[in-house]
Amino acid sequence: MYQKNCDRCQRPSFSSSEQGEWLCPVCGNDLTCQPFFNAMTQERVNVAYKVQEQRRQIQKETSSQPAATRENKSINLII
Ligand SMILES: [Zn+2]
Repeated sequence: MYQKNCDRCQRPSFSSSEQGEWLCPVCGNDLTCQPFFNAMTQERVNVAYKVQEQRRQIQKETSSQPAATRENKSINLII
């Protein structure tokens, strides 16, 4: 569970996802660029690392597509 503190109304808000927009439920302020905190420990969470992991996974998925295309071509040659 993540926590962000609104710099306008000073109220904390909570979410389980580090992705997407984050709007303050109290005043509607955009908190997307505010730092993440662990709601349990109040420690600042480095979410950038997780985003990099997701990007790496996306790269893996996209890089596996050309290989699949190559397999299809070789199958066509055999036929
Ligand atoms: Zn607010």
